Amino acid sequence: MDFIDLKTQQARIKTQLDENIQKVLAHGNYIMGPEIKELEKKLATYVGVKHAIGCASGTDALLMALMAYGVGPGDAIFTTPFTFIATAEVISLLGATPVFVDIDPITFNIDPAKLAQAIIALNANDPSIHPLPHHDVKPKTSNVKLTPKGVIPVDLFGLPADYDAINAIAREHGLFVIEDAAQSFGAEYKGKNACALADIACTSFFPAKPLGCYGDGGMCFTDDDSRAATLESIRVHGKGSDKYDNIRIGINGRLDTLQAAILLAKFAIFPEEVELRNQAAARYSELIQNSGAASPVTPYIPADCKSVWAQYSLLAKNEAHRMALMDKLKAAGIPTAIYYPKPLHLQTAFASLGYAPGACPISEDAASRIFSLPMHPYLSEENQMSIAQVLKERAEK
Ligand SMILES: *Cc1c(COP(=O)(O)O)cnc(C)c1O
Repeated sequence: MDFIDLKTQQARIKTQLDENIQKVLAHGNYIMGPEIKELEKKLATYVGVKHAIGCASGTDALLMALMAYGVGPGDAIFTTPFTFIATAEVISLLGATPVFVDIDPITFNIDPAKLAQAIIALNANDPSIHPLPHHDVKPKTSNVKLTPKGVIPVDLFGLPADYDAINAIAREHGLFVIEDAAQSFGAEYKGKNACALADIACTSFFPAKPLGCYGDGGMCFTDDDSRAATLESIRVHGKGSDKYDNIRIGINGRLDTLQAAILLAKFAIFPEEVELRNQAAARYSELIQNSGAASPVTPYIPADCKSVWAQYSLLAKNEAHRMALMDKLKAAGIPTAIYYPKPLHLQTAFASLGYAPGACPISEDAASRIFSLPMHPYLSEENQMSIAQVLKERAEK
């Protein structure tokens, strides 16, 4: 059994994939070819925003978004520690400081009430209100207060964070919001689409994401004309009127034409795949909830949201219970994974921020007992029944 089955999808769209790839080989515009604009237009329309800017990865999308706001040393960006390293890595890469805010225990997304506390704590320079990072790293700024600049909520496992609450808090404090939608392209929040929920949204086309290509790729989304123009400039080395007129420091952040061509073929069946993912998730939850009181906790999706199920994650009772369940599944030939085993505030890469265990207890608890089951649009009911059966056998012991 595959954790993510990309082969079935490829077989479905093989003819279109081949045709799209051959078209690129024939026109030869490997860099910024016509497929890029075509894909940007289609995805912007799907999401319901004015501008989409294709880029080289989800990480570059986040980096470009922060660069578009001129983020740098002395700036504080609030984000969740229960995410992939890239979310906070880009903050540090620009010399800014991540301020980690713990998650809601039910949705695993950033807790808006704690976000409000963290902003107050930072403004008051008072870590008794909310844990704050050290920032006496180079350059020597130990006596300089950090300036709150923005928030990066993450739509973890494909479920949008609570943007009504987050955007209101951000507006009150004059902060921008960048939606890390790397896992949530195709999801919905209160009648709006993921990637349309903040000032700029960033998604990833890494092969394992809900809409993945056959390599690296990503995209920024925004309704703001001037911000879109800035992102387009940053994407190509800070270009001005042409690429040899450079008006700012940028990056080589372009999406490959070939990857755009592949995404065009995949996007044609994407809406159907979102439905198939939701059907598979509903089947899992029904099968697992019916498998006894000792079974792991199934995901909660608020009534006004729709997840795109980048992951289907369960909470075991504790670390030993998780290990027992995962071992049992492994013995039955069923792959599982842990997203994420170590929250970012405890990662060695962020040791200089001085966070100690206990700073984000909900994230630490989730990291100790969460695990994910195989999830993709082509998961058969038969396979899901056997997975639930294995979980049940364990629960009965
Ligand atoms: C995958 C992912 C990224 C990074 O995307 P890449 O395309 O791999 O660079 C960023 N944030 C989150 C939450 C992700 O899951």
